[in-house]
Amino acid sequence: MTGPALSCAEMPVLRQRGQREVFCGLTSIIWLHRKMQDAFFLVVGSRTCAHLLQSAAGVMIFAEPRFGTAVLEETDLAGMADAQEEIDREVERLLSRRTDIRRLFLVGSCPSEVIKLDLSKAAERLSRKYAPQVRVLNFSGSGIETTFTEGEDACLAAMVPDLPEVDDRQLLMVGALPDVVQDQALSLLDQLGIGPVTVLPSMRADDPVGVGSKTVFAMTQPFLGETCAALERRGARHIPAPFPFGEVGTTAWLRTIADEFGVSDAVFERVTEAPRARARNAVARASEVLRDRSVFFFPDSQLEIPLARFLITECGMRALEIGAPYIHRQLVEPDLAMIPEGPVLSEGQDVDLQLDRARAARADLTVCGLGLANPLEAEGLTTKWAIELVFTPVHFYEQAGDLAGLFARPLRRRDMLRVAAE
Ligand code: SF4
Repeated sequence: MTGPALSCAEMPVLRQRGQREVFCGLTSIIWLHRKMQDAFFLVVGSRTCAHLLQSAAGVMIFAEPRFGTAVLEETDLAGMADAQEEIDREVERLLSRRTDIRRLFLVGSCPSEVIKLDLSKAAERLSRKYAPQVRVLNFSGSGIETTFTEGEDACLAAMVPDLPEVDDRQLLMVGALPDVVQDQALSLLDQLGIGPVTVLPSMRADDPVGVGSKTVFAMTQPFLGETCAALERRGARHIPAPFPFGEVGTTAWLRTIADEFGVSDAVFERVTEAPRARARNAVARASEVLRDRSVFFFPDSQLEIPLARFLITECGMRALEIGAPYIHRQLVEPDLAMIPEGPVLSEGQDVDLQLDRARAARADLTVCGLGLANPLEAEGLTTKWAIELVFTPVHFYEQAGDLAGLFARPLRRRDMLRVAAE
């Protein structure tokens, strides 16, 4: 894998802090609860937090929910009630009713952080009480200084110290993926002869996921910096690789792991040849409308750098600015090294200043959060909602065409509207 002579990895980063337009970490519960089937997420927060979860995951009202909110009332916020006792009562009520719960996450929020409610103390106490049937952990989903994908990072990082020690050499695949995508990845690794492979987060508490000094791990999501550090503290070794988006990204991700496990070129070619060709063709078809067009990324999901790499190197787009809420160098360096110098690389956000840059740039496609998309559309810019990229299966070969299609759709729609108006 060779990169450009001068890449974004060597370029200075524009760092700004100010008002930001992102969802909070509670949002990640929406995909985590689907992934971890015996887990329950109890948000210790306000009515606002409850509304966010309910409206964002409205579909869950038809199912037995696996998340809820222990609402902090005004007496809690004023420090007049013992919130720890109330948490104990809520948890008791929940666990006596729901014997299927094996992992309970107490999820912090802005209000619980503001009143400095110690959820780790509560988690320890409740874990002792309900072990071994239920493991109680805590993490923060607060929107103070965070973006929504950090909820998953905080959740996975909270699980790492709790993983059993394993001695055998193994590959740990880290990041919550839709089941169908995860199965494809595991099947490719299996065909390459790589194993044993386990996944964090596991679907069930009893799944045999452990960590040790012979564990090597590969990330499937670029926003898992804390989880990466927690795994390294347990002695595991990170395999840095470009993220598996598109044909090139997926091949590079697999190749790096294959090299680690000594897979021969012949086996690698045999296993990847057909899906690579399918992915290449699908991307070529879906990206016709993207070629030679420009893109501007507002910081949102932390997927921006690998996605910009995909759009530039596989779809022929030109990036004007790649904004990311946080740049975890250790994780995204391989993707940065594949992006030729040129775009502004920015970290953090002062939304007004960034809006000025986006208006001046007038990119063909602006990737941004929901709050910015409508006003920018009204100003004549074509936008893509960044959050869709987190909720849609986009990783690995079979989704490569869909990924290009997600970016192509708003441009096609705009082109059609233009033709209709003429
Ligand atoms: S955690 Fe904070 S940002 Fe998120 S819904 Fe609750 S109050 Fe709002």
